[in-house]
Amino acid sequence: MHKIQERKDIPNDMKWDLSVLYRSNDEWMADFGKLDGLLNEFLAFKGKLGESATLLFDALKKDDELDRLSEKIYTYAHLKSDEDTGNSRNLARIERVESKLSEIEGEISWFEPELVALPEEVFDKYLAAPELAFYKRTLEDVKRTKSHTLSAPEERVLGVLSDTLSTPYKTFSLFSNADLKFPVLKDSAGEKKELTHGNYIKFLEEPDRKVRKSAFSAMYDTYEKYRNTLAATLSGTVKSHAVNAKLRKFPSALAASLDGDNIPLDVYDNLIKTVRSKLPALFDYFELRARSLGLKKLDMFDMYNPLVPESNLEISWADACKWVFEACKPMGDEYCSVLRTAFKSRWIDVMENKGKKSGAYSSGCYDSFPYVLMNYNGTLNSVFTLAHELGHSMHSWYSNHHQDFHYADYSIFVAEVASTTNEMLLYEYLLKKNKDKSFRNYLMNHLADEIRGTVYRQTMFAEFEKLIHEKTEASEPLTADVLCENYLKLHSEYHGGFVKADKRVAMEWARIPHFYYDFYVYKYATGFSAAAAFSKSIIGGSAEKLHAYLGFLKAGDSMDSLDVLRHAGVDLSKPAPVKAALDKFAETVEQLSEGLSIAR
Ligand SMILES: [Zn+2]
Repeated sequence: MHKIQERKDIPNDMKWDLSVLYRSNDEWMADFGKLDGLLNEFLAFKGKLGESATLLFDALKKDDELDRLSEKIYTYAHLKSDEDTGNSRNLARIERVESKLSEIEGEISWFEPELVALPEEVFDKYLAAPELAFYKRTLEDVKRTKSHTLSAPEERVLGVLSDTLSTPYKTFSLFSNADLKFPVLKDSAGEKKELTHGNYIKFLEEPDRKVRKSAFSAMYDTYEKYRNTLAATLSGTVKSHAVNAKLRKFPSALAASLDGDNIPLDVYDNLIKTVRSKLPALFDYFELRARSLGLKKLDMFDMYNPLVPESNLEISWADACKWVFEACKPMGDEYCSVLRTAFKSRWIDVMENKGKKSGAYSSGCYDSFPYVLMNYNGTLNSVFTLAHELGHSMHSWYSNHHQDFHYADYSIFVAEVASTTNEMLLYEYLLKKNKDKSFRNYLMNHLADEIRGTVYRQTMFAEFEKLIHEKTEASEPLTADVLCENYLKLHSEYHGGFVKADKRVAMEWARIPHFYYDFYVYKYATGFSAAAAFSKSIIGGSAEKLHAYLGFLKAGDSMDSLDVLRHAGVDLSKPAPVKAALDKFAETVEQLSEGLSIAR
């Protein structure tokens, strides 16, 4: 929208305040200098963990102290570097800290194996020791890991091989991101552009069907040429998950992966079952999409173009802050007053500047503000991003203020819940406040597409991931034919009669990096579902439910993630939260259909 400014020309109140972390580079250097001393104090515990409960307590405390200081030093260096990635002083600082931290990581890598190797009776004594009561949860986690840990020489072999075992993924990644070249296409302005992973969705959002079609065909025709190579890389990764699970005596690769967060298998199966039971609402949406585009049936390249164009209104930063603040009012007084602090005490780096890291994130440590990096551009999407990132930051703020350092960091499984809850609050607020029809339609279209993308699509992926692991565990080879055939079948079950069967999409598995991530994608769907359930009860105005939600924000990692959510009133082992999210979807599609005044 504007010419990109130099960082020095941006007013201070639009920049984050890192001086609460360190007032100067000298101060940072002084802390950096303390790391070696702390490391040596920690290394003194090596070989002694079996001696006494008090000694183990001291070792764990020292480990926390080292971790906490490392995080503080790293946070400053990484935020500073993202302010202006072209600044060589910033770059030197972050490189320095990264190499120091990896050196420390190597030096302390004996700790967990030594703990795991302690004799059973010593470990059980520790679990019951009052001196170690504070670390009980951590020790219980180690015990859970212990039952799936192999003998020391076996672990060593696996450790040595781990880099080699990741070769299929590395091959895929290099091939897909660096070597693979897509054709040059024309966009709707007639301008020639090379198709890339980055602009593929932009092409699919174009209003001109011919442009969308050309991008879709080019993408899949390109992957089709390498079907056997890509089947081999995916199959290799799935095999390594399966072998690892078998060696560690897990019943399946899925069970092994879920054990990391101590998530029961029910959660995964229940998600798939519930989403499948709500597929008719998705088919209704496809029907609405087809009708509003004036088509009998949709092609696969008619999925991402917005049904309602985003209005050109430019939202000032002051308005963005006000909207997010107003939207969060149902969160209560304390939440709002912390939010006010976030704006006033400069947690947020607002504007784009030359060299600044692109995108948006929330980041910080136990001893800093939970900062937000933005590249605010005045669009409605940008306001949603602000609500989202502040959701992460508020989660961190509450956990940091209510947990000891050791238990403050919440797990990936719940990481997107608070951010999405905030987005939902903003959505409801904007919908209520605005009477303008096309603005409302745009909002509803935005939400419908988000739920389709995060819950329906990710669950389809989760189902595919489960299927290919099961086939591998049953010694069935994952050839390109097997992958394509099964993907196409699943895909058509998730798309119903209003979407044309297009054989090209059978190759979609080949371009999704997440299939290499060992059962990651289902967390998008469960996280969104939890957020939909929370936002509904918060807006409903129940003081008790709000209290429970704030309890979730405060809990950090003091309990297993599923328990944290359950205490707050969302039980992901039951169908209710996923149902709530998909009922919201059905309701939104219904409203959008009325808004677009298309008879059904
Ligand atoms: Zn996020």
